[in-house]
Amino acid sequence: MQTNFSAAQLADPHVAESEKILRKCVHCGFCTATCPTYVTLGNELDSPRGRIYLIKDMLENGRPADKEIVTHIDRCLSCLACMTTCPSGVNYMHLVDHARAHIQQTYKRPLPDRLARAVLAFVLPYPSRFRAALKLAKLGKPFIGLFEKIPALKPLGAMLRLAPASIPAASPMASPGIHAGQGTKRGRVAILTGCAQSVLDPAINDTTIALLTRLGVEVVVPQGEACCGALVHHMGREEAALASARQNVDAWTRAIEQGGLDAIVITASGCGTTIKDYGFMLRLDPAYADKAARVSALAKDITEYLASLDLPEPVRKPGTVVAYHSACSMQHGQKITRQPKELLAKAGFVVREPREGHLCCGSAGTYNILQSEISAKLRDRKVKNIEATGAEIVASGNIGCITQIASAAKLPVVHTIKLLDWAYGGPRPEGIANDSAAMAAE
Ligand code: SF4
Ligand code: SF4
Repeated sequence: MQTNFSAAQLADPHVAESEKILRKCVHCGFCTATCPTYVTLGNELDSPRGRIYLIKDMLENGRPADKEIVTHIDRCLSCLACMTTCPSGVNYMHLVDHARAHIQQTYKRPLPDRLARAVLAFVLPYPSRFRAALKLAKLGKPFIGLFEKIPALKPLGAMLRLAPASIPAASPMASPGIHAGQGTKRGRVAILTGCAQSVLDPAINDTTIALLTRLGVEVVVPQGEACCGALVHHMGREEAALASARQNVDAWTRAIEQGGLDAIVITASGCGTTIKDYGFMLRLDPAYADKAARVSALAKDITEYLASLDLPEPVRKPGTVVAYHSACSMQHGQKITRQPKELLAKAGFVVREPREGHLCCGSAGTYNILQSEISAKLRDRKVKNIEATGAEIVASGNIGCITQIASAAKLPVVHTIKLLDWAYGGPRPEGIANDSAAMAAE
């Protein structure tokens, strides 16, 4: 794509980066076919190619964002299916991140939208605030229907609908410290405790620590970790996202210096995509660029890390039929497609892949709160495809997808690590009937 930026515009490294990306796009439109918003809404401006044109026009003309571009960029899920499809290697992720930061700096949203975004940014990245908000949400649940009828209060209605009926107790295993590996030491990793996941389902990280230590891996929960920054990053709040990134880089750098790390293990793929991008996000900060690149290189999804170990035979082979839902951040953001399915199959599960596996479930960070109607359409389409597999359980590696799919599916939805832990000697995950079929299959 031809671009017409002035030399003065290109002196801004963010603009220069976006120009490089724009020049790669050959407007072929292959990406439109796999874009969930184009597939759902049928409008070119809600496709990757349409958004790329809108961003180009805004940046080239040095214009502040307007209502039209904000509408279409806000509808983008950042699912990155377009990046998987694009034959020209267009880095849509960095382009849309830049556009969102530009929107945040130049566009004044209507008051209800500003308020909803400010509340999400204030609450979600902080486990104690999120836990308190979920307790309060119980009081608001009877008014969901009313809130959903008032346009300005729709995000509040969506938030309340997603809030779980009960909140598990905080886990002591998430406190800073070291969990020693059993038997012969096979590695040393740090684990991201995370924000929303640690409140909604602390058992995910507990299970991860239990499995890794049983396999002989020492797990460090570093002092001073923060939210990965993805939630605010996707809202264009660059400074807040970079502050979280720096805090984590500092925490993990200390852990590296105090005993070395083979990996930084992440159990929410949405966080993984962002942490693997820290090197890029902090490239212009001389004090952090190298440390951030080192952290990004060490970041591994838990399935990616487990696949790198020579795992023993599982203790039991459950034989349960599992529909594997690959989160967008897993398959498109991190290009991890093989490992989770292979690990589940090796652990004795029968893995089925739903149709249209490339399409987002509509969770996408805060998307299911801020764009609840499109999100619900994508969720229902996803659940229908999952249920058509005839599986008994759904497995996924991202808390956002787990919450979203569980809000509409009749099947139990669990994190992949819980099924792997079960097969390798851990307890049966809550909500899974029994493993009698397993024993029969062995
Ligand atoms: S597939 Fe890639 S090159 Fe083609 S229009 Fe989409 S982003 Fe541009
Ligand atoms: S990130 Fe997803 S929703 Fe956004 S343009 Fe790409 S495919 Fe479409």
